[in-house]
Amino acid sequence: MTDTAGGKVIKPGGTIGVLGGGQLGRMLALAGRNMGYRFVTLDPTEDAPCGQVADEQIQANFDDVEAARKLAALSDVITYEFENVDAHVTSILMNESYVPQGSELLYTTQHRLREKKAIEAAGVPVAPYAEVKSAAELKEAVEKFGTPCVLKTATGGYDGKGQWVIRSIDEVEEAYDTLSRAKTELVLEQFIHFDKELSVIAARSPRGEVKAFPAAENIHVHNILHQSIVPARIPSDVQQEAEKLATRIAEGLGVIGLIAVELFLTKDGQLYVNELAPRPHNSGHYTMEACRTSQFEQHVRAICNLPLGSTELLSPVVMVNLLGEHIEPLNGLIDQPGFLEDTNLGVSAKVHLYGKKEAKEKRKMGHINLLTSDVQNALTWIERTRIWESK
Ligand code: AMP
Repeated sequence: MTDTAGGKVIKPGGTIGVLGGGQLGRMLALAGRNMGYRFVTLDPTEDAPCGQVADEQIQANFDDVEAARKLAALSDVITYEFENVDAHVTSILMNESYVPQGSELLYTTQHRLREKKAIEAAGVPVAPYAEVKSAAELKEAVEKFGTPCVLKTATGGYDGKGQWVIRSIDEVEEAYDTLSRAKTELVLEQFIHFDKELSVIAARSPRGEVKAFPAAENIHVHNILHQSIVPARIPSDVQQEAEKLATRIAEGLGVIGLIAVELFLTKDGQLYVNELAPRPHNSGHYTMEACRTSQFEQHVRAICNLPLGSTELLSPVVMVNLLGEHIEPLNGLIDQPGFLEDTNLGVSAKVHLYGKKEAKEKRKMGHINLLTSDVQNALTWIERTRIWESK
């Protein structure tokens, strides 16, 4: 480990501790091991996806103080693969080890209202919103924004959970009663009639270097990411603008490591940030084969304060998620000639699986990166395999 004016450098051979042992940690460890780093992960699940590929897994709950201390003692640098990290555990890790991402960004992104204020302070637009503290305030805000509009819990929501699309003023009482049970602040957002959902993942290192990956066009099914299409089918000036906004957020919020920026694009070309995730992101899995540097390698470089890698796109790509219900149809095809290399369509399929034993419905089990010269061919490949028919 060396200290330079631009912050501490963790050289290969060092140990990276990962809070959380899911697929994001697993792919991070796989990338980091190639770079010569060692990994230790903390996760309560036996044989967690990251535990399978790390040097060591500490099997304990995320609020287990002794386990956090053990992780701190074993690690030269600590990162996390989910954002709802317990504040007490974060402070232990920061006191007893090195957490270059700090606690402030987590504190901001754990709470929708704090997050929106920070994004606005960085000079980046978010959908018009209002904090609501009572059914009466909600009614007033619904009248202001009009219907539909979206009521969200400030904390704890993901993949569309903790949300209520209010379609008529008559729903106000029920929406308020239901979401206020979550015992957190509520925020009402104007409904954005978006044309496309995009995301940009940017990285920033302690030495202040920032690089953004190409914008992805994301298609969700039942609020879960289904596909990321890159290049996004949008004008190049909008792509550049989205990447510029993500860079501005990385700089404005003093991000270290990755920040995933989810955006709405309206028909008239306006971009609004929906939310942030201070970690590798499902919509960045396309980088694994399609970019010169993957998001996982970039995160390792950023937290270890190595120079960031090139984010150049090497090939158009479509990433498609494999949920529990897609595993059986995939298994029926995976050994078929022409499945992984479809020369007719000019599509090359790279299958990634996360080592999860039970293929529960809607559980993220893996993904496929489809490399192609034309994203339309990859979309045709997806349709023809019929793996995703039972959505
Ligand atoms: P979130 O949990 O905030 O990422 O929202 C989940 C999904 O709900 C988004 O990917 C959008 O498809 C939809 N959504 C959320 N907020 C809005 C909004 N203000 N206007 C329109 N759609 C929204």
